[in-house]
Amino acid sequence: MQVSTTIFASRIQRFRLPRVCVAVVGEDATNIIDRAESLVRDNPFMEFRLDYLTNPAAGLPKLKHFLDLHPEATVIATCRRAVNGGKFKGSASAQLDILTKAAATGFQLVDIELQSAEILKAAELTELKDRVGVILSFHDFKATKKLEETFAEMKRYPADFYKIVSTATSLYDNVQMMKFLQAHSAQHEMVGLCMGEQGIISRVLGVRAGSVFTFGAATRGEETAPGQVTAGELRDTYRIEMVDAATQVYGVAGDPVAHSMSPIMMNAAFRRETVNAVFLALHAKSMKDLMACVPDIPIRGLSITMPYKQDIVAALTNSDALTKQVGACNTVVRGQDGKLYGFNTDVAGVVVPLEQRMTLQGAKILVVGAGGVARAAAFGLKNKGAEVFIVNRTPEKGQALAKATKAKYLKRADVAKMSFDVIINATPLGMGANRQSPLEDKELNTKFLFDLVYVPAETKLVKMARARNIQVIPGLEMFVQQGARQFEIWSGKPAPIAEMSFVVTKALERLGVAPVEEELPAPKARPRDEEKPAPKPLAKPAVKSSSKKAARPAPTKPRKPAKKTAKKPVKR
Ligand code: NAP
Repeated sequence: MQVSTTIFASRIQRFRLPRVCVAVVGEDATNIIDRAESLVRDNPFMEFRLDYLTNPAAGLPKLKHFLDLHPEATVIATCRRAVNGGKFKGSASAQLDILTKAAATGFQLVDIELQSAEILKAAELTELKDRVGVILSFHDFKATKKLEETFAEMKRYPADFYKIVSTATSLYDNVQMMKFLQAHSAQHEMVGLCMGEQGIISRVLGVRAGSVFTFGAATRGEETAPGQVTAGELRDTYRIEMVDAATQVYGVAGDPVAHSMSPIMMNAAFRRETVNAVFLALHAKSMKDLMACVPDIPIRGLSITMPYKQDIVAALTNSDALTKQVGACNTVVRGQDGKLYGFNTDVAGVVVPLEQRMTLQGAKILVVGAGGVARAAAFGLKNKGAEVFIVNRTPEKGQALAKATKAKYLKRADVAKMSFDVIINATPLGMGANRQSPLEDKELNTKFLFDLVYVPAETKLVKMARARNIQVIPGLEMFVQQGARQFEIWSGKPAPIAEMSFVVTKALERLGVAPVEEELPAPKARPRDEEKPAPKPLAKPAVKSSSKKAARPAPTKPRKPAKKTAKKPVKR
């Protein structure tokens, strides 16, 4: 019997469908097949966007060849009309004709928009559904609203899957989408997600709210919708096939956060330590939006970044002594009681890499800058007994920080007259495309330079320091150490520091800004006992090659005294 076959097919599909469907586009059928051939091994569930073809019907015979060759693949035929956000310029009838032919070609599923269903006759749709699995879809490219009303309209038409894709304009839109999925997924086969950068929560967590599957791009640059992440990232970084009701949700919250390395680093740590947790980039345009999401998702922990490190403090029920002292929090734990508890791990991020190289008690350290990170550095280093000096572009802010931390404020003109054990750059100078240095060559009278900027690793300041034979501590070490403390607070397990460092190094390498492989930390020196005049610039700069790839990543330095063996490459 025709109808029961379709129901049977749809039931089977639900259980055998992978959670990620990869959208494949191409200028012609050969193009699509070439892409599909290279993808099918890792991605047996694909969507062919027929609307990207100049003549979709003409391409079907070629696509049939692929479908015949790959019975293991489940492929959706989509020929979205231009009026509904696709590229097909034909009428709803012409669309139906192509989808019907696609069914005869061997596609297991076809996607048709609600707007087309409204134009077609009921019998035409029923006939299509009798031939092939039908995904009835609705896309809102502007907002997430009226989900229930839209679904009520969709339910009037027979379909095997109901797919609603909206656009997140706030983090809370994801919550709306997931509540909607939860409300209907027991009765219907639902697919739902939010597009846009802020929609990442629904792209990853939608499957546990009841979405049968979600969509991923084949590669970066091949996205078919705003905010789409690659199928590889969904599987490898976010481990979407394992996300379930017990998966704990963490995230980095800030504005902006699109380029944050935290998701790559923290998800790698969770995977390595087999913690059932996922870590997302939460682009919070306001604290209010962020706070609304925390209990509803629910979020178990947050990494807080700019501009919310101070603002979050008011939302905390309690915090550690460092948060109180510094007045800023970068780590939040949501307790079983639903209350938020704050920690500051930025301090550890600055202090630990230095402690691995020297005794901080009595060390002379110049902090350049008086912003949030400089504040964490100054308090942390004073707590360890270092002699801290502060210089800042705006003297009043520098003086205020010096007063608060009992450090000494230095006039810029006096910097060149002094020598230090460590100079810390806590300004953004050198970051990204910025080629500036916060200090001049003659002011670099120090044994160690700790440039907290880590993208790129080779800032102008770092290059100047290397040329003077000054030991450079890469800013990546702060990033990894603050993240390692966060991981430990959240999971109660020791952080897999080498793995965390490795994945970020690889990610930076892909961006073309890989950190330079560093020397091991020197055994605990006592730099204050060895104060020497500043080294003269070398005739031949002792610059290390920056072309070394992360094939042999420098593992994160151990917390205990460094040993040569720690230099082994990470086994993956
Ligand atoms: P912030 O609060 O905005 O403070 C920036 C500081 O830099 C201020 O003291 C500011 O001086 C100074 N500054 C800004 N532009 C300057 C310029 N053109 N010339 C001289 N001084 C300038 O920023 P933050 O949160 O402390 O972060 C500072 C940097 O640390 C970031 O840009 C980032 O690169 C780095 N960072 C690294 C990590 C890591 O894990 N490695 C983590 C966080 C931050 P005024 O007081 O005069 O404005």
